[in-house]
This record gives sequence, structure tokens and C-alpha cells, in this order.
Amino acid sequence: MEKILESQRQFFASDATKSYAFRIAQLKKLKQLLIQHQQAIMDALYADLHKGPFEAYTTEVGFNIRSIGHTLTQLKKWMQPKRYKGEIFLPFANAYVQPEPKGNVLLIGPFNYPFQLVIEPLIGAIAAGNTAIIKPSEFTPKTEAIIEKLINENFDASYLYVIKGDAKVTSELLKLRFDHIFFTGSTKVGQIVYEAAAKFLTPVTLELGGKSPTIIDETANLKVAAERIAFAKFTNAGQTCIAPDYVYVHATIKDAFLKAFQDVIQKRYLNKQTFGRIVSDRHYQRLLGLIDAKKVVFQPKPIPEERYMGPTILSQVTWQDKVMQEEIFGPILPILTFNTIDEVIQTLKGKEKPLALYLFSENKQTQKRVWSSLSFGNGAINDALMQVATSQLPFGGVGQSGFGSYHGVHSFQTFSHQKAYIKKSTKIDVPIAYPPYDEMKLKVIKKLMK
Ligand code: NAD
Repeated sequence: MEKILESQRQFFASDATKSYAFRIAQLKKLKQLLIQHQQAIMDALYADLHKGPFEAYTTEVGFNIRSIGHTLTQLKKWMQPKRYKGEIFLPFANAYVQPEPKGNVLLIGPFNYPFQLVIEPLIGAIAAGNTAIIKPSEFTPKTEAIIEKLINENFDASYLYVIKGDAKVTSELLKLRFDHIFFTGSTKVGQIVYEAAAKFLTPVTLELGGKSPTIIDETANLKVAAERIAFAKFTNAGQTCIAPDYVYVHATIKDAFLKAFQDVIQKRYLNKQTFGRIVSDRHYQRLLGLIDAKKVVFQPKPIPEERYMGPTILSQVTWQDKVMQEEIFGPILPILTFNTIDEVIQTLKGKEKPLALYLFSENKQTQKRVWSSLSFGNGAINDALMQVATSQLPFGGVGQSGFGSYHGVHSFQTFSHQKAYIKKSTKIDVPIAYPPYDEMKLKVIKKLMK
């Protein structure tokens, strides 16, 4: 590891990664590799998580291909220094911000979108002119292997390199000095990464998880809400960081929502061929432990040997239930009820800030109140999950769900330092700031500094 990182330091120091032409060439090469190997990537995702081709393409490989396409068209603009004029204390000068690459970065990925969630930050790292060491999740070994093959066989190790391995390997990597660490994973491991980074004052981006609420008030279009919530919850069998963790529904429409939701499940989500699988036996057992049999209103028969757990609905759930004590990260949807939106706001203010929040309501007042009262990483009104479909929006958490953000220009900014400077003419020198000082100078300054 140390050798690879040292070679990346030297390569970065040569300034080779910095030119527009180099960055564009690497992005084009990566895009070509993704297109060329898309079938193998999708096969790996099927083997690891039972992701069907549509899901694997839209949420992983196609997502990245589109993102590279966007970056290719925008990079020139992003790299331009920004010029600011008109500062009275800087006569005959211009002020600039010039984005520059941070240097040698480390990217650590999770298991749930094991391809997309390392390639997406990689796109930003390349676009910003960095070198990268990539540590994909060890829990999705087929995808880990294809990422290793694509990168290590096609890029020089002194530029991009994949290191495979578990928590032990990551701990060793975290002992090294990087210029930025981009981590996606659990809050618990995020704390470990943050602590390790502190030793070298390395900046970090922490893309973490949490319990993302979905609020449905009595004015909601239930049919549409049921479709969109089911899609967001059951994509990748619920193993999505921004999946609705639970539904918080107005008590008067709970039964109507339950009926609409079960209709959607019956129609779309009972096909075992296309439904995802839980990543490991450990997670499967953890999920089984969250299901209180007395509260189950819908549950297909689980198949433990396949780690298949179908869409499962729990009703009459309270905040004291086990399922409400941790991020679910599986196809279990607990339903809680409320009577007033004030109650919802007060309750959620007492919880950790989630990565996402969704509100289904036709009431503009309610939309405004919830949005101005509650803090969360990202979200949607009358939709769920689809806020990630645009590269314009920054994607990231707040509080315990993480900090920093990426996607599109935000990835570029995350992996860049905003170098700020002024450039001044030497033709005229205004001496007001130089000593000796007198009453007159102070008077003039006071007039100017207001
Ligand atoms: P995880 O934290 O267990 O693992 C993530 C990475 O950290 C893996 O590469 C793993 O090898 C490494 N790791 C694990 N233990 C470590 C340790 N003790 N020291 C150093 N490194 C260690 O996360 P996961 O189970 O793969 O993913 C699920 C979590 O990720 C959920 O909480 C989910 O919400 C979150 N997540 C967040 C986002 C986001 O964009 N915010 C996206 C996907 C997943």
C-alpha cells in the first residue's frame, strides 16, 4: 500500500494529472471501459445482490456512464478560475478562485451499490485532477473483482489503483496520509474513518446512513404515494441508503394506505426472479430479528438459504419497537401513525437528522412547514429516491448521516481545493494602509469601512 501511495505521490507531483486534456482522456477511457464491460458488471451485481439487468443498469453502471457524460461536457467550465472585481480595498487588483486538485485521495465503498458508489466519487476525483486508491466493499466479491480488473488492468498503479480487502485492510490504509478520504458506509465506521483522518488533518467526506422517514398526510394522493414508496423501498431489497426507512402516516388514512400499498406489492414486487437478495447471512439474521411476528400484516415466506426476504409490512409499530432502534436496510416497512403534523415535527426534531426525508401531501402549508422545520440531507415532496436522478443536486447527509456532498459539479468541488488569491498591478501603490498613521488616515478608513 505504502509503495503504491508513494508512486501516486510522485505521479501527482509531476503535475501530469492536472491538465484538462489528461482528465478528459481518463474520463473518456473510463466511460469506454464501462460501456465495453457493462454485461460483466451487471453479471457481477446479479451474482452478489441478485440485481436484475434493469436495476443494475439504471442504478449502477448506466448511472455512472451518464455521470461521466455530464462531466465531459461541463469540465472545462468547472476548471475555469472565477474572477471577482470591485473591492474598494483592492484597487488595481483582481481576486480569483482557482480550483486545484487535492492530490492523492482514498475512496472507500459500501456493499449496497458496490459499483456505482466507488465509481461515482472516482469520476469526481479524476475530473478534479487527483490520483486515487479505491477500496470497494469485500461483501460483494464479484463486483469487487470486476472493479479491480477494470482499474488495475487499464490504468497505471501510480494513477489509479484498487486494493481489495476487509476492515483490517481498510484500517491499514487509514494509517497512511492522504489528501482527501471519501467514505460511504455506516455511521459507526464513519466515526473510525474520521478519527483516523484527524491524525493528518485529512479532509473527509462521510456519506453515511440513518433512518429516513416518509410522512404521508391526509391530503396525499395515496395511489401515487404507494407506487413511489414501494419503488423506493423495494429497489435493491431495501438496501438503499436513501430508501424510506419507515412510513409515518396520518391515522385516518392508514388503512387506505395499507390497502393501496399491498395492491402495489401484489402487482409488482412478488417476483422472486427480479427481487434483490440480502447481502449476507449476518444481515439476513439481523433483519429477521427486527420483525415482530405480532405486528406483521404482510410477509411472503422467507427463503433463508437464498437470503430472500420479500416485501414485509409491520403495523401498529411504536418508537419503542426494535425495528425503530436502528437503520433497517432491508425490505421491511414499519408503519407508524400520527394525528397532527405538529406531532410529527416535534417527534422528528428529537431524532438524529436523517439522510433523506419524504413527504407525501397536497397541502402547500404542510409542505412549507415540514421543509422549514426539519433538517435532513436530501429529500422529495411527493416522491422518494428520485432526487438522485439529477447531477445538479448535491448529494450528502447532515449530522449523523454525514457531511460533504457529491454528484456533478459537487463531486468536482469535493475533490478540489478552492485556491483563492489576488493579482495586483505594481504601476500604482496606494499607501493608505502603511504607517505612519494619523487622525486623518483613521478618519478616511472609518468612512470606507462601514
Ligand atoms: P460499512 O460501514 O460496514 O462498510 C463500508 C466500508 O468500510 C467497507 O469497504 C468496509 O470494508 C469498511 N469497513 C468496515 N468496517 C471497518 C472498520 N472497522 N474499519 C475500517 N473500515 C471498515 O457499510 P456497509 O454495510 O457496506 O453499507 C451500509 C451502510 O452504508 C448503511 O448504513 C447505509 O446507509 C450506508 N450508505 C450510505 C450511502 C450514502 O450515500 N450516504 C450510500 C450507501 C450506503
